[in-house]
Amino acid sequence: MTGHRQSQETGEPATDEWEKVAAQCRDCEAVYSAWVLADGTVQPIGRKDGCRCGSSEFEALSR
Ligand SMILES: [Zn+2]
Repeated sequence: MTGHRQSQETGEPATDEWEKVAAQCRDCEAVYSAWVLADGTVQPIGRKDGCRCGSSEFEALSR
């Protein structure tokens, strides 16, 4: 019987709890692909420093 499933405890964030959305900068209105984290934080993908305009405030757009 192979009812045994291996869990992946790698210490990485639980990406299945993240939601990929489009997010818009509150400042310059640039739109990025972003993750909405489990706590509601909007994190633009590949832009850990935030928007090109220097803002780090994003609003998730409707999916
Ligand atoms: Zn911006």
